Amino acid sequence: MQGDGGVRASIDGLPPLRDVIERHGLQAKKSLGQNFLLDLNLTGRIARAAGDLSQATVIEVGPGPGGLTRALLMHGARRVIAVERDERCLAALAEVAAHYPDRLEIIPGDALKTDFAALAGDGPVRIVANLPYNIGTELLVRWLTTPDWPPFYQSMTLMFQREVAERIVAKPGADAYGRLGVLVGWRTDARIVFDVPPQAFTPPPKVTSSVVHLVPRQTPLPADVKKLGRVTEASFGQRRKMLRQSLKSLGGESLLDAVGIDGTRRAETLSVAEFVNLANAV
Ligand code: SAM
Repeated sequence: MQGDGGVRASIDGLPPLRDVIERHGLQAKKSLGQNFLLDLNLTGRIARAAGDLSQATVIEVGPGPGGLTRALLMHGARRVIAVERDERCLAALAEVAAHYPDRLEIIPGDALKTDFAALAGDGPVRIVANLPYNIGTELLVRWLTTPDWPPFYQSMTLMFQREVAERIVAKPGADAYGRLGVLVGWRTDARIVFDVPPQAFTPPPKVTSSVVHLVPRQTPLPADVKKLGRVTEASFGQRRKMLRQSLKSLGGESLLDAVGIDGTRRAETLSVAEFVNLANAV
């Protein structure tokens, strides 16, 4: 598309992302988990998967050159707050902010050192991000173990490597079912929305990715998050062993008897509710 004055423009009136990357010298850095999405149709699909954004403050981690950020704004996000660690991206993001006055706030810094609940302020919050793979799981676990529940966000729509996405949504009996699946299943309702092939990214990663949508349960079964963590860590730490063996340090057979679970079962056969019962009996 040609914009006014012969300058190329995208459907949102801003320059195409390839031009932005070139003009600001944003060659992807592996150390920052940079795999950019340049197709506004695809980023638009992610924005739509996040639900109604018109009343929401969207928190984004790692806006990079701004592809997903632009899609979120174009799809009507009331406000976007985006945390970016790579200072090279800030000038490009300032152009997006100028194009959408009062709707985009860029926070330069490390997402791992950010207090997201404090950033969120009042009103509904949705977290949407094409996460850097090296910190994606850690951020998800932090958001899932936030002390106040229901949490500060209404939903999370996040990109992960397919293999991690499978662990996130895994149910009992599945090979991918483990500590992460129990934590996710306990506090949220999670599903994979769609897959994204490597070629959709610049540069392409080695593996397929998936967008996961997680909605917090308003009233998860009551449990202490630390105790649940101890029980799942012990159970899945030796996942091929019988529970009476793997849970020995937490009470073994007598703990299992107390909640009516057969000690010859293996971790991957236990439902989330059974793990919660164990945590409450520890
Ligand atoms: N949102 C962009 C997109 O979809 O094209 C970029 C996604 S890229 C997978 C991950 C982004 O996270 C990069 O822009 C990277 O600089 C940023 N990032 C990496 N580590 C970060 C951290 N600790 N805190 C904040 N941002 C980080």
